[in-house]
Amino acid sequence: MKHPHSTLPLLLSLLTLPSPSLTYTPLSDFSLQHHLTPSLPTTSSNITTRDPDFDPLIGALLAPILRPRVPGSVGHAAVQSHFVHFAQTELHPAWQIEWHNTTATTPATGARQVPFRNLVLRRDPPGAAAGEVARLTLAAHYDSLLRPEGFVGAVDSAVPCAVLMFVARAVDGVLGRLWGDGGGEGGLEVRKGVQVLLLDGEEAWVEWSERDSLYGSRALAETWEDTRYEAGSSFSTPLEAISLFVLLDLLGAPEPNIPSYFPTTHWAYRKVARIEERMRKLGLLETRPKKPFLTESEKKEGARFFGGYVQDDHVPFMQRGVDILHVIPSPFPPVWHTMDDDGAHLDLPTIRDWARIMTAFVAEWMDLEGYLEEGRGEAEGGDSGRDEL
Ligand SMILES: [Zn+2]
Repeated sequence: MKHPHSTLPLLLSLLTLPSPSLTYTPLSDFSLQHHLTPSLPTTSSNITTRDPDFDPLIGALLAPILRPRVPGSVGHAAVQSHFVHFAQTELHPAWQIEWHNTTATTPATGARQVPFRNLVLRRDPPGAAAGEVARLTLAAHYDSLLRPEGFVGAVDSAVPCAVLMFVARAVDGVLGRLWGDGGGEGGLEVRKGVQVLLLDGEEAWVEWSERDSLYGSRALAETWEDTRYEAGSSFSTPLEAISLFVLLDLLGAPEPNIPSYFPTTHWAYRKVARIEERMRKLGLLETRPKKPFLTESEKKEGARFFGGYVQDDHVPFMQRGVDILHVIPSPFPPVWHTMDDDGAHLDLPTIRDWARIMTAFVAEWMDLEGYLEEGRGEAEGGDSGRDEL
């Protein structure tokens, strides 16, 4: 993404603070304590166990992403395969796996059409018509910079992708329990779904500009604006059906400072901040930062919001009126766009805490309180306990 000195005007600085129209029940302390993974590493042994998901060398989710993945390259294709393999083997078959493909020329590649492929992983309630589902939309980009050559982009944005994979897997089994009986099917009310966007072509190839950046997200926002649901649907397009667009970027370095960028979604920011605060009080997070990751929950309505200065994948969606929660530190981590943005410079406790916080937020958003324990609701069948939240 582009640094805050960009000139994009402040967009959509509406002063109202809308609340979600759908229900939202905070998780109980018990659910936070007993049903959120990853559990804290044990200190009882001298042996350092390597993190099964986020270890930079062997972590099943993260390690395969930690390689150069410039669009059109071998590494890029390998990371795409990793995502699909994950979705096919770790998520319930009810998840739709959908590629959105586009091509574009770049200032670095002349007349050649470079392929960009966004991956959409989506789980809607069973039986719900596509135009009746309000989708919590979690996004991160998976492409990496062309230069410097060999750039890995660990915080930018391999870690955010891995965290979103983790979250999808963590809530998956619980969604099955929530929806197992098909409750609400055929009703007229709007229902909640969730989708993960693994976006391509975020990075500039030569120098950041409106045309040389955001290749994937620009194409996807345009397509979703032009795709029509059946007449009479609650939402007319997939774009309109986005209840909140949560963009994760540059996460994985220690001591992140995440401002609240938009007055329109400060209410959602506060919900995440509240989760972080509660989890810290309950001793459920590993890190001991000087300040919380989300520092601005007390910011007042009239205060300054800096949304619009950081250009990132949310921009094409925001320009079309979508509500954005941008989870990106300010300042950027010192390793940003350098060869030091690699696995060796990551802070594992910080990554795991992001996974915990975001999992709890999605569980709250999807109203999973009461379904977190196995044996509650109808079992979906066929699954092991691996996806227990
Ligand atoms: Zn970048």
